[in-house]
Parts: sequence; C-alpha cells; structure tokens
Amino acid sequence: THFGFKTVAKEEKVAKVAEVFHSVAQKYDVMNDVMSFGIHRLWKRFTIDCSGVKKGQTILDLAGGTGDLTAKFSRIVGETGHVVLADINESMLKVGRNKLRDLGVVGNVSYVQANAEALPFPDNYFDCITIAFGLRNVTDKDAALKSMFRVLKPGGRLLVLEFSKPVFDPLSKIYDLYSFHILPKMGKVIAQDEDSYRYLAESIRMHPNQETLREMMQSAGFTQTEYFNMTGGIVALHRGFKF
Ligand code: SAM
Repeated sequence: THFGFKTVAKEEKVAKVAEVFHSVAQKYDVMNDVMSFGIHRLWKRFTIDCSGVKKGQTILDLAGGTGDLTAKFSRIVGETGHVVLADINESMLKVGRNKLRDLGVVGNVSYVQANAEALPFPDNYFDCITIAFGLRNVTDKDAALKSMFRVLKPGGRLLVLEFSKPVFDPLSKIYDLYSFHILPKMGKVIAQDEDSYRYLAESIRMHPNQETLREMMQSAGFTQTEYFNMTGGIVALHRGFKF
C-alpha cells in the first residue's frame, strides 16, 4: 500500500540523515568554512541580529549541531539566561559540546538529544527558537514546526535559517553546478566522504522554496511571517511570531 511505501521512505531518510551527520561530525566546521567560503558566518550573524534576544532569556538552538549559534546566544543571555542546544545526532552533539567547552562557553548552556518533530520541553517555554540548516533534514517538517510553536512563549519568535531558492536564473545554474559537481568532490578530498555531500546537494534541491516555507510556518500557527533572502536567495532567513 502507499502507507507502507511512505513508512519505508521515511525510515530511509531518518537513517540517511543519521549516517550523514555521524560521518561528517568531526569535519563539519572545516567543511562549512570551505564550502561556503566562510559566508555561513555572515548568515549566522544576521540570524542573531534578527533574533531580538536579550539578557536573561531562554533560547532553543534546535538542530544546533556544533553550536555556532549557541555560542553567540550564550554570551548575549548571560548568567541569568539559558541556551538549550538540541540535536538528534549524538556525534554532532558531542563535537558541539567539546568545541563550546574549549571556547569557554559554559554555565548557561545545556545539551539535549531530541527530535525536532517531538520536542521534550514544556509548552510556552522559550523566548526564541532558531533552527539553522536543520529543517531541511527533518522528515516531518509540519510536525516539527508545530512542535516549535508549542514550546515557544507567546510573543516569542522562530528563526529558520536554511538553503533556499536562488532568485535569478544565472545564479541558479552556477549554484547547481557547484552543489552537484564541485561540492561532492570537495567532500571527497577534505572529508573523504563524497556521498554525504551529494546528499547535501540533493536535500537542498528538495527543500521548499521561500514562499512555501513561509506558508508552512503560517499553517503551524506562526504570524507576521516574513523572510529575508541572503546571497541571492541561496540562503533565506524566515521569521515568525507566536501570539
Ligand atoms: N545548526 C548548526 C549549524 O548551523 O552549523 C548545524 C546544522 S547541520 C547542517 C544539521 C543538524 O540537524 C545536524 O546536526 C543534524 O543532526 C540535525 N538534525 C537532523 N534531523 C534532526 C531532527 N529531526 N531533529 C533534531 N535535529 C536534527
């Protein structure tokens, strides 16, 4: 039946995502810098700037991986605030925890292994939730957005940073060439892992475009949803509020 088919496809994706991130965890930060020419740092800085996060607040960095956003939030919220880095993947969490500890980011950060589709937190708990380059990897995105809505405080905001659709054709063509041909080769040379970086390109291609993701956020309950294209729409930051 088509139900059976759907289940298999879903389990396959979950297994593939787990395999990819176990495999890339150790080289993840280096690869990010190399593949994006360092630009991911700017995308993340812009995300922080749009977060409105203040001292004393409680933040969820979902699919937080190696913790770039967590480190920044930890400094902003200070001793009276708290940042939860949640990720489904043990290897990514481990690399993240070690990295942040080495950077001296301790005291107001905790680490939780969790699936974005079923967050293990109380209702109305976080002032702000970020999910950076994570939603693409989640199988049931609608369930994940609903789960984020539930744990966000009224007045709180969600920020989704993700690859999106380039806004003009020539850029699209160059970008496709880059992601499907050059990127897997870079993965092979730098991380000895061509396959994972091929998955990356495919998952970017499959991900909903700017307007579709905005509508999905609206359906999950978020209001005043909007998005900001960066680097010609290669990446977009979506923002929505819970009221
Ligand atoms: N946020 C970090 C950053 O921007 O550098 C890490 C992004 S990394 C590309 C994607 C992360 O999403 C991985 O660490 C992966 O384990 C995590 N992830 C994938 N599926 C998930 C799920 N269902 N729930 C929570 N995290 C998930």
